Amino acid sequence: MKIYSHDNLSLHRPLPYFSYGKMHEPLEVPERMTELLKAPAALGLTVTTAKDIDMAPILAVHDSGYVDFLQHGYEEWMEVDEDLGAQVQTGIYVPYDNPGLGIMAKAAKYQADDSAPISEHSWTSIYWSAQTALNAAEALLNDKSAQSNTQLCFSRPPGHHARKSAAGGFCYLNNAAIIAEHLRQKYQKIAIIDTDMHHGQGIQEIFYERKDVLYTSVHGSPINFYPAVTGHEFETGAGEGEGYNINFPMPHGTSEAWFFDYVDKSIETVKQFEPDVVIHVLGFDVYEEDPEAKCQVSTQGFKTLAQKLKALNKPLIVLVEGGYYLPKLNDNLQAFLSGLVEH
Ligand SMILES: [Zn+2]
Repeated sequence: MKIYSHDNLSLHRPLPYFSYGKMHEPLEVPERMTELLKAPAALGLTVTTAKDIDMAPILAVHDSGYVDFLQHGYEEWMEVDEDLGAQVQTGIYVPYDNPGLGIMAKAAKYQADDSAPISEHSWTSIYWSAQTALNAAEALLNDKSAQSNTQLCFSRPPGHHARKSAAGGFCYLNNAAIIAEHLRQKYQKIAIIDTDMHHGQGIQEIFYERKDVLYTSVHGSPINFYPAVTGHEFETGAGEGEGYNINFPMPHGTSEAWFFDYVDKSIETVKQFEPDVVIHVLGFDVYEEDPEAKCQVSTQGFKTLAQKLKALNKPLIVLVEGGYYLPKLNDNLQAFLSGLVEH
């Protein structure tokens, strides 16, 4: 088993933001990395520092104008004469195209909500989050050793809400989509199974009309819960992609037993698809004490989850994305890792 990370994942530090009628302290903070990294250390597992794979796989998924905004938006924001604050965030969210005349217009176009601001070091973390995930994909493309059969990457900031040309929900580049697309150069069929608390509408949007990448997600019902506008059962794909997008929204307050019932159904759809590679978007925000949780998964539950994914017996890349209850990130990841490494 291989685990990838990079020091740069800890640089992005969002500032407090306004949403749902009040101010919020950011949940997606660098301290998450400090806690998460304790887990492999406690289990004696080696963490490999990711190498730079480069920009090309990112641009194979995301619009170049959007990537340019993520990369240079902060500098442009700080060059405006008026003091607009220390992070790119307008509160003007206009989902249709505009010519992007000025950084405020670009932000209006490329940010989908309040929770994905760009501060001084954001781009460095965003870029390295994608690179860290790409290291696992590259290993699978080039390395025949069994070590590459199970891989785990720290993906901070997370990615599953990032759309082709819009940031949102703490996400900027869609790490899962980027590696799925990258793996397609060798593998015919990729399955992405998402068990984060929230629906990964970015992954859904990117592959909605494709049958070579299956997306299946278990998440809290989107009715009055982020991302609010997607994640329903009736979103099943379109055109060639019809039937390759499978959502399992859970009623709020779902028990652990019911969570695994949905997970089993999701895994069954993956089995029927017979993928060459499985990508798992892992969110610890399904944990019972997480501030975002709408279900009740226990620490032990993460071990069970890992065992179920391992039982698929396919090359597996796990991306550690959501999860905001700092005191338990270490324990929960240790539980998950112990399920992955046991024989
Ligand atoms: Zn989440």
